[in-house]
Amino acid sequence: MKKKSPVMRKCISCRETYERNNLLKITKDHKLGISFYKGMGRSAYICKSKKCYTDSKIIKKLQKALKTNLGSNFLVIFEKEIANYI
Ligand SMILES: [Zn+2]
Repeated sequence: MKKKSPVMRKCISCRETYERNNLLKITKDHKLGISFYKGMGRSAYICKSKKCYTDSKIIKKLQKALKTNLGSNFLVIFEKEIANYI
C-alpha cells in the first residue's frame, strides 16, 4: 500500500515546494480580509525559513500572489505572525 502523499505547496519567495504544514499560509478572504491559516479565497504560502519571511520583497511578492494591495496594517500583523518563528 502506498502512503497518502502530503499536500505540497510552493513558497512564493524561494519557489521550493513544502508540505503545507510547514508553510505560513496567507489567505485573502472576502469576509475576513487577509488572514493567516484560515479563510477561503486566494492563498499564498511562505516557508518558515528566515531568508523567505524576512525577504525585503516579501510584501511585494505577497501582493502579487494575492492580487491585492496590503496596507501598512498588514505589515504589523505579518511581523507579529513571523515573530513566532524567529
Ligand atoms: Zn521559501
